[in-house]
Amino acid sequence: MSSPWGHLASLNGPLAFHTLPSTHHTLGTAPTCDISLPTAATSISQHHCRLLLLGDMPCLENLSPHGTYVDGKHVEGATKVSLTNGAEIRLGGDTFFVFTNLLEDPKLGVFEGRVVGERYYVFGGYELGKGSFATVRLSVDLKTGERLACKVIQRGKGAREREREGRKPSSGTVIARETAILKNIMHPNLVQVKEVVRTEECVYLFLTRVTGGELFYYVQKHGGMEEHAAKFVFYQILLAVQYLHNLDITHRDLKLENILMESSNPFGRILVSDLGLAKMLGTSLSRMRTQCGTLTYVAPEVLASSGTGGDGYGKCVDCWSLGVLLYTMLSGTLPFGTDSDGQLLATRIKRAEYDLEGEEWERVSPEGKHLITSLLTHSPSARLTISGALSHPWITKRGDLLRLLYRKMIRRSPDAGRAEWVGREAARRDLVRLFDTGAY
Ligand code: ADP
Ligand code: MG
Repeated sequence: MSSPWGHLASLNGPLAFHTLPSTHHTLGTAPTCDISLPTAATSISQHHCRLLLLGDMPCLENLSPHGTYVDGKHVEGATKVSLTNGAEIRLGGDTFFVFTNLLEDPKLGVFEGRVVGERYYVFGGYELGKGSFATVRLSVDLKTGERLACKVIQRGKGAREREREGRKPSSGTVIARETAILKNIMHPNLVQVKEVVRTEECVYLFLTRVTGGELFYYVQKHGGMEEHAAKFVFYQILLAVQYLHNLDITHRDLKLENILMESSNPFGRILVSDLGLAKMLGTSLSRMRTQCGTLTYVAPEVLASSGTGGDGYGKCVDCWSLGVLLYTMLSGTLPFGTDSDGQLLATRIKRAEYDLEGEEWERVSPEGKHLITSLLTHSPSARLTISGALSHPWITKRGDLLRLLYRKMIRRSPDAGRAEWVGREAARRDLVRLFDTGAY
């Protein structure tokens, strides 16, 4: 076989790439290995593992008594496992590699990747996801070896010009402060921003990598969710939003696409993503709206005052979006229809026109429906608040069970325990100022 079927990016010390042209390649400390590792680590064997192409399936075969880790799973004995694109292969100690499957997309070599902020390698190949204004790629912290998600946001011409003209502060201290603030927003159910790197053209946000996919895909695939599963997922979303609202932060973009799952099981950890970006980038809500092309989750008061810049809404806009979320999770349908006809959608939202009729609603409890109507209440002042939602009977009736499940889940979750709020008060003051005044 001549053209390579894969690449291995070596993330030990200086970044290096190995191409994989043959049907099998051995890795280990022996000089006779195809990829020979000059390491003294005793946990790496002379012949540690083999990478194989079986048909068109890339595989790893363990050869070492210590075993090999593939995506965190311990492969022991003479076992073969398949390798997915972006798989992390760890040979004990700090020695590890990231695999790229070139058969999946031969044009996308890893050589397109680059080092950002002197410490992060952003893979150029495939995307982990694409949002309304960003592309999310796999990245690695070259210092710690941790795999991260890197959100790459092209900066608008306007933002760059404002910065140059001094209308938007760009000094190092401001950037450092913003970064510190984003990094200080810590909750087990919020995607953690680890670092922010800005260049003239792009903003790179380095985030905890979440591997279970979007809640959107789950709901789409299963045509909705069982009520008890939806309750556990929604409970976690409520906790994340409560945390933000207690800090006087409005999320503003709560939707199924922005809710990520740690595993494909709804009883795993849920992480709310996409926080604070609109403001950080100086992107007005109206611009985001046109870019998203969807009004589905937008509260009626936002539509009523469209064109006014869109920054003056209260936290209650999030509670409306939570109502849309819960409706969609429980029924697999959207309360106000799709945005194929934007005008019609807007009219329905402005009138809070939706129903809880039909077959899909027959199996939903009266409390579940009541919570939806309390959140999808037209008047912002009459709408249920986040603490109201958390003390709604739909939640409190099973409150003990939810808390118990949650504690168990957090213990199982690899890095949720780390998410302790650090320097709470000082950070809170900074946050309130920045998010409220839009000072940056
Ligand atoms: P946008 O602001 O453009 O909507 P998002 O932050 O929502 O961007 O990211 C776009 C998509 O990328 C998400 O819907 C998700 O599929 C994927 N993604 C985002 N963050 C992560 C992450 N931390 N780990 C894994 N995938 C992610
Ligand atoms: Mg998004």
